Amino acid sequence: MREILHVQGGQCGNQIGSKFWEVICDEHGIDPTGKYVSEGGNDTQLERINVYYNEASGGRYVPRAVLMDLEPGTMESIRSGPFGKIFRPDNFVFGQSGAGNNWAKGHYTEGAELIDSVLDVVRKEAENCDCLQGFQVCHSLGGGTGSGMGTLLISKIREEYPDRMMLTFSVFPSPKVSDTVVEPYNATLSVHQLVENADECMVLDNEALYDICFRTLKLSTPSFGDLNHLISATMSGVTCCLRFPGQLNSDLRKLAVNLIPFPRLHFFMVGFAPLTSRGSQQYVSLTVPELTQQMWDAKNMMCAADPRHGRYLTASAMFRGKMSTKEVDEQIINVQNKNSSYFVEWIPNNVKSSVCDIPPKNLKMSSTFIGNSTSIQEMFRRVSEQFTAMFRRKAFFALVYWGGNG
Ligand code: GDP
Repeated sequence: MREILHVQGGQCGNQIGSKFWEVICDEHGIDPTGKYVSEGGNDTQLERINVYYNEASGGRYVPRAVLMDLEPGTMESIRSGPFGKIFRPDNFVFGQSGAGNNWAKGHYTEGAELIDSVLDVVRKEAENCDCLQGFQVCHSLGGGTGSGMGTLLISKIREEYPDRMMLTFSVFPSPKVSDTVVEPYNATLSVHQLVENADECMVLDNEALYDICFRTLKLSTPSFGDLNHLISATMSGVTCCLRFPGQLNSDLRKLAVNLIPFPRLHFFMVGFAPLTSRGSQQYVSLTVPELTQQMWDAKNMMCAADPRHGRYLTASAMFRGKMSTKEVDEQIINVQNKNSSYFVEWIPNNVKSSVCDIPPKNLKMSSTFIGNSTSIQEMFRRVSEQFTAMFRRKAFFALVYWGGNG
């Protein structure tokens, strides 16, 4: 058994985290009470269930999830939401003060006060594991809690479990989605932490998510719900290899070994196809060549950067559904041959592909892409330019740096 311990923090982290659990419960046949409801005895649903779930008495499956926040609101709505009862009640850890979109409050003051209660729950879950492979953290980088306290937690976990893997799903801020001016400060402080203390980061960029909703899905005013629909589809795709048997990248360490040539270069662009909007009933069915073409397309990337402005160090293509593996292999070789200048030549065979025969809900086939591309610097440059514009004048600096007391 190679367990993963999931932690979600802050408003965004809790929102995307609970969506993730709804989606994977559905894929594994777990109902909102934690019971397995078999669909014709599909063994693969349960074969690796222990990666994300604990088995409780009465045959119930309980997410190995810890939920934290500095204010109660978001977690209260999760608790009263459709899957609210599935979580272990003791694993909700929250304060009352809030972080006011202030990284320092999350990292140094309010968050630092609450962190030990979170670590107690984390420790308890870790102790119950047979052989913990690592942690995954869901958070945003633009606010105070997920960002400041999230990275505090990551550094504490690294200190206590230095040989376990740390995967993050990190939501990068965009002025298209949010109008809090200090977000580039919060994000920059967080990235600095993630470079040092995380092993692999899946970049979920609100700028790209907004553009996909607006341009491709034709939603005129995308809501967080719409963005989170894309995020949960991607998270399900990325973790599919960890949750179902017989996959490439079947644990967090193998994923890292295949994708990370140098330890600090662990920020991945993720893509998904086909893109569908929330609640859309339209039936999208694509062929393997179409899925392949779309998954490599800049328009399908959850990060606002164009892969054609850089080169791939490594990439991994994961297909889901019933299809010919031979066709998948051919398509991927085809992409590499046609675009060889976009792959560094000094890592031969740097694209891997795999097929999982269980498709996501409501689709016959899908594909998920994870790429380690030098073009991701475009996204970092965007945040960095927003940071510098303010920092040059020390705008809002005392607020963020001194936690509002400066
Ligand atoms: P925290 O509670 O202090 O961690 O703050 P938030 O999570 O609200 O952080 C604010 C940042 O997260 C901003 O960049 C928001 O645009 C983004 N954000 C907040 N909620 C969501 C959400 O549900 N989905 C997405 N994609 N982004 C969110």
